[in-house]
Amino acid sequence: MCIFCEIIKGNIPCYKVYEDEFCIAFLDISQTSIGHTLVLPKEHYKNIFELPENISEHLGKIVCKLSKHIKEKLNISSINILNNNGEIAGQTVEHFHIHLIPRYSDSDIKIEFNSNNLSKEEFNELCEKIKY
Ligand code: AMP
Ligand code: ZN
Repeated sequence: MCIFCEIIKGNIPCYKVYEDEFCIAFLDISQTSIGHTLVLPKEHYKNIFELPENISEHLGKIVCKLSKHIKEKLNISSINILNNNGEIAGQTVEHFHIHLIPRYSDSDIKIEFNSNNLSKEEFNELCEKIKY
């Protein structure tokens, strides 16, 4: 059973803020910050690795539109867009979704990045490896 599919089917309630033919957006039940919203495709795709291009393009557009809308309505100037794919990355619901997390102060949420000190050679090798 996928909890987000159940929400989409209307079997579990949600606080819906947007819906179209391909995607839906509703308030995250945890409200990490006020206005924390999830945007997801109506079709069940486990994560970004399964997402077809037409859906990813559409989601990108809606994430952008909704961010601007939330910025205006909640009178914010900052927002984090976050997406977890896979257990190691912290994904807990295996139906692809993008978090929109409005920010009100730089200390309300901790999003930290570690830093690997790579040599120039390591940077070059890595760059060649993943160059697209
Ligand atoms: P992630 O950890 O990236 O997979 O995010 C899953 C998110 O889904 C978490 O932030 C949860 O708070 C949220 N969530 C789980 N169940 C519900 C629900 N029934 N309605 C709204 N959000 C939910
Ligand atoms: Zn699902």
